[in-house]
Amino acid sequence: MTCFLLSVTNSCNKACAYCVVKQWRNNPEYPDKIAAIDVIKFLGKEMKAGDTVELTGGEPTLFTGLLLLLEWLREHNARVIMRTNGCKLDSWRKEFPNMVIVLAKHDSSDEYIEQKRAFLLPHDIVQTELDIVPPDSTEPKFRTNDTSPLGKHGYTKAFFVTADGNLRFMPCVNVSMGNIINSDYSLEPWSCLAMNSCPYMLGAWNLAARMEKWSR
Ligand code: SF4
Repeated sequence: MTCFLLSVTNSCNKACAYCVVKQWRNNPEYPDKIAAIDVIKFLGKEMKAGDTVELTGGEPTLFTGLLLLLEWLREHNARVIMRTNGCKLDSWRKEFPNMVIVLAKHDSSDEYIEQKRAFLLPHDIVQTELDIVPPDSTEPKFRTNDTSPLGKHGYTKAFFVTADGNLRFMPCVNVSMGNIINSDYSLEPWSCLAMNSCPYMLGAWNLAARMEKWSR
């Protein structure tokens, strides 16, 4: 199985101090270049039913064409993860039971989170401020309240696409494999010795496993 991590937009409505994409976020030097159709074209060639597609940003609900992409992913039996601050999260969410939402509170009010909870499904996760690690900590920025029952993942490949269409073998391998916008890429047979114990892939595997039902 393959895990695709798609950073679909550099836009965000927030400005968290601990943001890992601070350098690119809302920065006119790093405009978004991919459209939903570019992602669909790429996944249409590379994705198989049951693969995981994780959507992140920036704030992925600000991605133009998000619903078109989600509909395509549902139709092609992808397991979808979306990490969001809930910006445009609304009643449409319940049309996608093949997706698990990780709703991060950041500096939003309790009332805001309660409102957004109404749009969540039982397998979704809310990361509260209690999960946020202080900015000067060397620990991961968030502790998840997912209990991660599975200690092994089943991914054999993983790919990372940024909002300019650049393709890499995971965020930690900073080597471009081309760009998906004009299909100008090749999926080199990269391998990673740490893949079996990769915390990112283990987290994605556990999140994807939260979904019991798939819909077409
Ligand atoms: S909501 Fe997420 S992407 Fe936006 S500023 Fe905060 S950490 Fe960064």
